[in-house]
Amino acid sequence: MKIGVSACLIGVKCNFNGADLLSDFIEKLRSVSEVELIHFCPEDSVFGTPRPNLRIVGGNGYDVLDGKAHVIDENGKDVTKKQIEGAISFLNLLKLEKIECAILMDGSPSCGSNVLLKEENWPAGGFKQGTGVSAALLQRNGIRVFSSFDQNSISRFLSSVLNKFGVQEGLKDLKDMPKFKALFLEG
Ligand code: SF4
Repeated sequence: MKIGVSACLIGVKCNFNGADLLSDFIEKLRSVSEVELIHFCPEDSVFGTPRPNLRIVGGNGYDVLDGKAHVIDENGKDVTKKQIEGAISFLNLLKLEKIECAILMDGSPSCGSNVLLKEENWPAGGFKQGTGVSAALLQRNGIRVFSSFDQNSISRFLSSVLNKFGVQEGLKDLKDMPKFKALFLEG
């Protein structure tokens, strides 16, 4: 079974600052013989690495696709068109590979599926609810997208489609994590 993943999660150093965002959970998934991870970084594909930090302003990834919001880099440059190009390349690869689902790094203006970095107070931290451009495009094209932090949901989904993949107890989803719980309780 093929699963699309954000490249940074498997250790590719494609984050904006040249780091990776290696996930122990994804590493374990990688060791499952029936699973093949198809990785891609939509931002590296169009901007290279390292690159300026990006934020969505005026909405979320769906709004960007609809021309109602923009992607701006830390220098104030509008990079919306290129961000969408990267998302289209990601979609095309995953369609070609006939993946079952995608697991994307949450919080990113490309790969975020539940949360985005706040545009206010940039470059300071802080999250808001929202979906990034690639995650929105994949979802619009019928691809099931999981947040990389939705480990309980991913585990349960895989156990339903892979005989040898047993449900792991004690895993959490993003909305159960103290860091994000309040954000979703606030609505
Ligand atoms: S764009 Fe996606 S794959 Fe690339 S570094 Fe950001 S979260 Fe990872």
